[in-house]
Amino acid sequence: MAEPFETINVTSRTVACDGGDGSLGHPRVYLTIPEDETKVVCPYCSRSYVLTGKSADHHAA
Ligand SMILES: [Zn+2]
Repeated sequence: MAEPFETINVTSRTVACDGGDGSLGHPRVYLTIPEDETKVVCPYCSRSYVLTGKSADHHAA
């Protein structure tokens, strides 16, 4: 496959990644998007987790 690494939109700064199915799978790890960043890249499978919906962050009921 020649596809670029996956980009996954998340709404929380803490994400769990297990690489999904197939050869890229790996033990589940928890990644945290730094306060001054909007994304984190999984060191195992190189997926990018991009923070979206920032406003919702400040809208916790
Ligand atoms: Zn991963």
